Amino acid sequence: MLVAIGPTGRTVSLEARDMIASHGADAYPFTEETLKELEKKYDEMAKGWPEKLKHALHEEHELVLSRYRNYYCDGCNEEGHTWAFYCNKCDFHLHPKCALEENKETKEDEAKEQNPTKEGWKCDGDVCKKA
Ligand SMILES: [Zn+2]
Ligand SMILES: [Zn+2]
Repeated sequence: MLVAIGPTGRTVSLEARDMIASHGADAYPFTEETLKELEKKYDEMAKGWPEKLKHALHEEHELVLSRYRNYYCDGCNEEGHTWAFYCNKCDFHLHPKCALEENKETKEDEAKEQNPTKEGWKCDGDVCKKA
């Protein structure tokens, strides 16, 4: 049996149960300090992520960055935890990495188009020479 003691008593115990579900041994010992540390770690993870985004897999609604203990990603069908991009109307979840991957590719493609590497070069078949 798990016992977690903190000033907020019951809340900490409930939170501790969530921690063990998603973190196993990482979350020991369950003190207020540990929970704060984990919160900080979670916030660090989410740094630079948008709060909301639209994704090609779910064009109807915005997906909102939410804390999740456990879910199944509707993009890759793998289990996920801690953070998800979530639509509460449809119960649709995406891993942050799945949700952000596509956006990143789009940006890279745009960058490529804006910076053609062949500029200043003359190509004759397979051979390219600096002009
Ligand atoms: Zn995924
Ligand atoms: Zn939806």
